[in-house]
Amino acid sequence: MQVFNGKGVFGGVAIGKISLYRRKQNQIKRNRIEDIPAELKRFKEAKVTAIEQLKELYNRALAEVGEANAAIFEVHQMMLEDVDYLDSIINIIKTQSVNAEYAVGTTGDNFAKIFSSMEDAYMKERAADIKDISERILTVLSGGSQQVINTTEPVIILADDLAPSETVQLDKDKVLAFVTQLGSTNSHTAILARTMNIPALISVNMELNEEYDGVFAIVDGFTGTVYVDPDEETLAKMKKKQAEDLEKKALLLQLKGKENVTLDGKKIKIYANIGNANDVANVLKNDAGGIGLFRSEFLYLEKNDYPTEEEQFIVYKTVAENMAGKKVIIRTLDIGADKQVDYFNMEHEENPAMGYRAIRICLDRKEIFKTQLRALYRASAYGKISIMFPMIISVSEVLEIKEIVEEVKEELKEQGIPFSDVELGIMIETPAAVMISDLLAKEVDFFSIGTNDLTQYTLAIDRQNPKLDKIYDSHHRGVLRMIKMVADNAHANGIWMGICGELASDLSLTETFLSMGIDELSVSPSLILGLRKKVRETNVDEVKNSILEKI
Ligand code: PEP
Ligand code: MG
Repeated sequence: MQVFNGKGVFGGVAIGKISLYRRKQNQIKRNRIEDIPAELKRFKEAKVTAIEQLKELYNRALAEVGEANAAIFEVHQMMLEDVDYLDSIINIIKTQSVNAEYAVGTTGDNFAKIFSSMEDAYMKERAADIKDISERILTVLSGGSQQVINTTEPVIILADDLAPSETVQLDKDKVLAFVTQLGSTNSHTAILARTMNIPALISVNMELNEEYDGVFAIVDGFTGTVYVDPDEETLAKMKKKQAEDLEKKALLLQLKGKENVTLDGKKIKIYANIGNANDVANVLKNDAGGIGLFRSEFLYLEKNDYPTEEEQFIVYKTVAENMAGKKVIIRTLDIGADKQVDYFNMEHEENPAMGYRAIRICLDRKEIFKTQLRALYRASAYGKISIMFPMIISVSEVLEIKEIVEEVKEELKEQGIPFSDVELGIMIETPAAVMISDLLAKEVDFFSIGTNDLTQYTLAIDRQNPKLDKIYDSHHRGVLRMIKMVADNAHANGIWMGICGELASDLSLTETFLSMGIDELSVSPSLILGLRKKVRETNVDEVKNSILEKI
């Protein structure tokens, strides 16, 4: 048995085999080829393998998600047989005496460009499919597997680090736990692990050694320990711990349907944070009062191209409908910093956390912003949608946003498209927004404090930097005072406010938040019932004065 240590960012015990996370590396080099017939044969064999893979994917999808959703794999098979596409690849290999990878990559890029430039929306979208099939052949040519997790059974993922775009693309049913060498507590990958309700460890002192691949192991998210090839005694102990944890979680389910009310009768709303429509099942299972933060940028991260208005509308509408009239607060696109999306073609920045991100991009590239706002307003006719804007630093930004919102509403009205009243709120996650929260409160319907970013900007500590994790002190009085100031300014101006950063689920601060009169806490779905338990055990009147004095 080997034992490794790191930091647990989400509790729970996972038992299963390790799978080394292999990044898709289809970097294409142009090589000169002497034996052209052999290269052509190599390409043709790769194409046959790619088609076989697609057939298998089609059959699997047919059984799991039905014919309509499986159809895409049939379309890809047909595209792989397209004469123009194949002729182009073969021609490049023959005339330029180059490797198959280069020919496939070049053809893929050329065809994708042609499709993107077409007027027809359907044809435009085929550009992503061309890229996809070309990637598939490239992966076969490089001897790799396109699937990052290449097993049928769920596994413990061992990686150096995981970008949010990588995490969202993993097949969630196949992941028992994450173990990464790098990473920080407030990174989006840690947040995603909490949303997925699986144990996750960061900063683990474990090599990415091939010999661990497929080896049986245990991950203890409570202590931050990995046991590789555990002995009988450890296995028995961990199985017991796992059973106890599951039992505790089952006990919490008894709190379903109960109010979030303190012993002295103070009520608070407990909502859920989500990243996509599939998370709603977990939200309902854990009895959230609503959705306090839907990180809509994950829709963009999951795709290879801009999600269309229609695609977004369907997702927002589904979430609103499934939440059946409960509040759904959707945050507009918050990319940049660690959430990089290739097709936005953003320039390299020295300091991306303080760079071109979130609302700054939306106010600059208004067509992207308006597409999202149209989708959101259209979905508002199907449930109770609120919209919230990230990374605000000034009143003028809010005024500009409101003008754009009015334009969108006007357009929809002219087109006879129905929409409902929508609450507009902002994230308070910059010190500037805190300091002018009295002014901002006059312009919006609610505030939601993003403590992850607010802490990083207040303490000048990059939330992504594992080296600084130790001093990333979200209990710092500087941060707590800011939260209190925002609560006071919101209430003095008659609007409600909540917290949707990770701090909302920190049970050692629940009494503090209740004492400040925070109206809503939005947390990962799996943490809702634990928070409800804590609220129900608190007597605010008893603790309030002594807590507020210490801030
Ligand atoms: C935050 O900053 O606290 C927040 C909720 O947003 P994100 O973590 O997505 O940046
Ligand atoms: Mg943020």
